[in-house]
Amino acid sequence: MGKRSRHQVGSWIRKERRKAIYERDGFRCVYCGCSIFDGDGVRLTLDHVIPKSMGGGNECSNLVTACHECNSMRQDYSVRKFIATLVRRGVKRETVRRRIRNATRRVCKSASGRRYK
Ligand SMILES: [Zn+2]
Repeated sequence: MGKRSRHQVGSWIRKERRKAIYERDGFRCVYCGCSIFDGDGVRLTLDHVIPKSMGGGNECSNLVTACHECNSMRQDYSVRKFIATLVRRGVKRETVRRRIRNATRRVCKSASGRRYK
């Protein structure tokens, strides 16, 4: 495990913390609202609300659940710009903003009760 592995998908955050964030967000993408319970092969990822390239950190209040499709679509765009893209695709602006707000303000806790920052 050299330097390289740190940049592989999924290796930058501990499994339990990742799962706690998915749980906090109801296993649902905050952007398009799709869920793993929809049963259509939704793949969840974590997304930085403020991109790392813009100074965003790895704290739970800056991390949200996003499906793989939304995450790839967003790239490094600001959340404002990405919401505009989603609105053009038929997602309601207020709904996305509310989902992001709800996610980032909620306490992030694992199933065992451990809290994460
Ligand atoms: Zn999505």
